[in-house]
Amino acid sequence: MDTSRDGAHHLMSSSATPISLNGSAPRCGHLDELGPVTPRSGGCPACQAAGDTWTRLRVCLNCGWVACSDDSPQQHGRAHYQETDHPLVGALEPESTWRWCYVHQRQV
Ligand SMILES: [Zn+2]
Ligand SMILES: [Zn+2]
Ligand SMILES: [Zn+2]
Repeated sequence: MDTSRDGAHHLMSSSATPISLNGSAPRCGHLDELGPVTPRSGGCPACQAAGDTWTRLRVCLNCGWVACSDDSPQQHGRAHYQETDHPLVGALEPESTWRWCYVHQRQV
């Protein structure tokens, strides 16, 4: 008799991805963990050591580590995230408000 219990199931079974493609992405909670950081260098140390060049520089907003961006050949900024789980990077220019979260994969 009781075959009309659909509807209750849909709410709980969404996937674990934090990314929503319809514009309703959750706020990036990683921002709450930020304190002021000072960039540790004026260039990407890994590129400088290897004699490579970069397109742009990013600064880790968790620890101040400077590394090259994802549109640079070596992508040391992404490597820093993968090694340290520091998810947030910003532009090196202090006047820039551009910030990127690797976990949420979007600007925050
Ligand atoms: Zn985030
Ligand atoms: Zn680099
Ligand atoms: Zn870091």
